[in-house]
Amino acid sequence: MTHDDASSPQGPRPLIDGFGRKVTYLRVSVTDRCDLRCVYCMSEHMVFLPKAEVLTLEELDRIATAFVGLGTRKLRITGGEPLVRKGVLGLIEGLSRHLKSGALDEITLTTNGTQLAQFAERLSKAGMKRINVSLDSLKPDLFRTLTRGGDLAKVIAGIDAAQAAGLKVKLNAVALKDDNAAELPDLIRWAHARGVDVTLIETMPMGEVDADRTDQYLSLKTLRANLESFWTLKDLAVTTGGPARYVDVVETGGRLGFITPLSHNFCEACNRVRLTCTGTLHSCLGQEDASDLRAVIRGGASDERLIEAIRNAVDAKPKGHDFHIGRAAAPSVARHMSTTGG
Ligand code: SAM
Ligand code: SF4
Repeated sequence: MTHDDASSPQGPRPLIDGFGRKVTYLRVSVTDRCDLRCVYCMSEHMVFLPKAEVLTLEELDRIATAFVGLGTRKLRITGGEPLVRKGVLGLIEGLSRHLKSGALDEITLTTNGTQLAQFAERLSKAGMKRINVSLDSLKPDLFRTLTRGGDLAKVIAGIDAAQAAGLKVKLNAVALKDDNAAELPDLIRWAHARGVDVTLIETMPMGEVDADRTDQYLSLKTLRANLESFWTLKDLAVTTGGPARYVDVVETGGRLGFITPLSHNFCEACNRVRLTCTGTLHSCLGQEDASDLRAVIRGGASDERLIEAIRNAVDAKPKGHDFHIGRAAAPSVARHMSTTGG
């Protein structure tokens, strides 16, 4: 334990990495499993982790709570598909004690939406205000193809339920050159008409999937130029410490974000780290750096020792990512997005 971690009137020293960036945002993957198999994210026959390797709900709570104690203000629950993890609502309800105490500003969720109809009300009651739903197409057949079997109607019902429960919904759509690029203006129009902002994401080279992702890579710069041929896009100053840049679409009255990890470097203001469902802490989405917090807690470590391990991991946070997309390239990062949670 460092001197600063003792209970001083100011509380513990905040988490600041070796480049002076304050880490205030933790993304927690609660499972590697999913009820869909999106073509850019998973292979058709994914082999999932044995249960014993996955953190228990108590372990997830313990690590997240340690981060909250170190100044984390925002938690995002993700996966895999977080809502297929048994007991995840109990975990979120438990973590909401940090909202009530004022230690945490926000708990959010990234979901594919298939289970939302069932859980939206409870999420809202647990103090959740906003969620991200991933949706790449409003065409039932294309949706089924892209997700390898998903039912679009379930996701739409989930979004309806979330909005009815008072949750602010944002859509995430991965831009795929051949599959959904032509449909994206319709998707954006549809979302904006129901008060839902949209963030477009470039495909990232993570994990082996069956298709060649470089064939589907669409630069959002190209896409933006296309949208600007019929819409007025007004740049906004808002930044979230993440890789998204935002515009207002004057004609639809909605907000549109662009996540461009490959064509734009977004690392200078990075404020986040990621915990996998096996307890590995990745301080950068685009690097192989990793710290095994599961080994620390399963080894019987005290909270002080856990805090020390978290500090060491954050100290070593790399300056920036190393993504590149090239025809012959293997994935830049071997783990799947469903492992790190995006
Ligand atoms: N299952 C949930 C969902 O789909 O929202 C949460 C986990 S998912 C891994 C988080 C986000 O990562 C989704 O918006 C998904 O579209 C995105 N994603 C997955 N693989 C990707 C890839 N290779 N490139 C870009 N985004 C990806
Ligand atoms: Fe599942 Fe989300 Fe990956 Fe799609 S993007 S396969 S919904 S984890």
